[in-house]
Amino acid sequence: MIKNFIDGEWVEGAEGGTFQSINPANTAEVVGVLSRAGKQDVDRAVGAARAAWQDWRRMPAPKRGEILFRAGEMLLRRKQELGELMTREMGKVIAEALGDVQEAIDMSFYMAGEGRRLAGETIPSELPDKDCKSVRVPIGVCGLITPWNFPLAIPAWKIMPALVSGNTVVFKPSSLTAVCAAKLVEILQQAGLPRGVLNLVHGSGEETGDYLASHPGIDGLSFTGSTAVGMRLAARCAEAGKKVSCEMGGKNAIIVMEDADLALAVEGAIWGGFGTSGQRCTAASRVVVQEGVYQPFLDRFVKAASALRLGNGLSPQVDVGPVVSEAQMKKIHGYIEIGKKEGAELLTGGKACRQGDCAQGYFIEPTIFAEVDPKMRIAQEEIFGPVVSVIRARDLEEAIAIVNGTPYGLVSSIYTQDVNRSAIAERDLETGIVYVNASTIGAEIHLPFGGTKRSGFGYREAGGRGGALDMFTKWKVIYRDFSGRLQKAQIDR
Ligand code: NAP
Repeated sequence: MIKNFIDGEWVEGAEGGTFQSINPANTAEVVGVLSRAGKQDVDRAVGAARAAWQDWRRMPAPKRGEILFRAGEMLLRRKQELGELMTREMGKVIAEALGDVQEAIDMSFYMAGEGRRLAGETIPSELPDKDCKSVRVPIGVCGLITPWNFPLAIPAWKIMPALVSGNTVVFKPSSLTAVCAAKLVEILQQAGLPRGVLNLVHGSGEETGDYLASHPGIDGLSFTGSTAVGMRLAARCAEAGKKVSCEMGGKNAIIVMEDADLALAVEGAIWGGFGTSGQRCTAASRVVVQEGVYQPFLDRFVKAASALRLGNGLSPQVDVGPVVSEAQMKKIHGYIEIGKKEGAELLTGGKACRQGDCAQGYFIEPTIFAEVDPKMRIAQEEIFGPVVSVIRARDLEEAIAIVNGTPYGLVSSIYTQDVNRSAIAERDLETGIVYVNASTIGAEIHLPFGGTKRSGFGYREAGGRGGALDMFTKWKVIYRDFSGRLQKAQIDR
């Protein structure tokens, strides 16, 4: 049984319940049995994080960074094993799973370096014999809640900046990928984190997650998951005066202009639409195509999608793995039915695959709808599966209006060879990330990551100016007067 990690020890939940993590490619395989954390366990975890905080925040940041660096090295050594575990636990194909581990490695090294930066400002004073500086200080105890689609990368995106900034953490991963999460915590423990600095609690969002998110003992909450849950938690944190950041859903789109390199655009749409079985917050679930290339694009896109091989992601021949769970499979089927009823043209896919390698898992064929009206539900709501809506547009202006015409604003992309069209799209697309001649997938960890509108609330994730350090630190301004007399500022002398 995989236990909770509280105050430096692996412990069973006080109330004793368990739950299983199942391989979605082969539901007969139990990947792990997890010990469920109840309220008492969350209380203990928050208490341990609080108790550990004073010493941790005072440890020099470069020393904190060294621990993260060691964790990065250990992740690197165990990359293959962790990638295979991830594929078994949530289904993404092995190359993508290894990419997920690599992101966790990159984030560990990057944030380890941040321990030697964490820069503030020194500014001249308006008075003599006085100096002024602003410094980043940690916020305290952070609750971190993560989804299943990036089982190591997203936890690392949160844990590494939180720790290097001097916070202590209570981490509640998705119950669908709790085994991967436990490995990450184990590695950080082995890398030398003092007890209580990082705590892990397993359990469902509705129970363990909800209790953690509203716990009076946390000072901040960083959440990644659905918009519905994120906005509820954000409202609650705001009411309690806690710092909060939520990365949430998306309805991302690729624009294909008449002057685009069509082969490249098709490749991008395939990767964006069906990578990770469409279960990325950055998935390209809409493709908006200019009239003149609508049909040729569609013909090539459907042909390429129909050729994708479904199966167990551990096989290197497989392009698309299963979706993560039965509930997710039902939801996706529901949307396929909605699309048909709304009058969109189903050109390929639309069914579960239960043959051969797929017999025991949650597999859905890559699905393309054409003649989709931008106001249809399949073009407005996040499906989070291998379903792409293709929409016609007269010109760039209409294409941009279509892309911007949803409640979400995470990622968009444009394929064009025209520098002016590119510049207009870069300026007018209302998403947190814009790609030019690249798919909607491909964020790099040293730039801020996140969305606008219902896709993101609070602070950006990952690195760079305006990245995760803004969530996990607050500013303190220090004025030091060494004149030996009362000097008055903010007064007319
Ligand atoms: P989810 O159902 O919202 O769950 C996310 C996390 O929140 C899980 O750990 C979940 O626990 C927990 N949770 C659920 N209900 C909760 C509650 N009432 N209180 C506290 N915690 C709660 O989302 P998901 O299905 O895991 O992930 C898919 C969603 O994540 C999609 O909408 C996707 O777009 C979004 N996502 C966004 C980004 C981004 O950076 N913008 C990245 C990846 C994914 P359990 O699952 O264990 O119940």
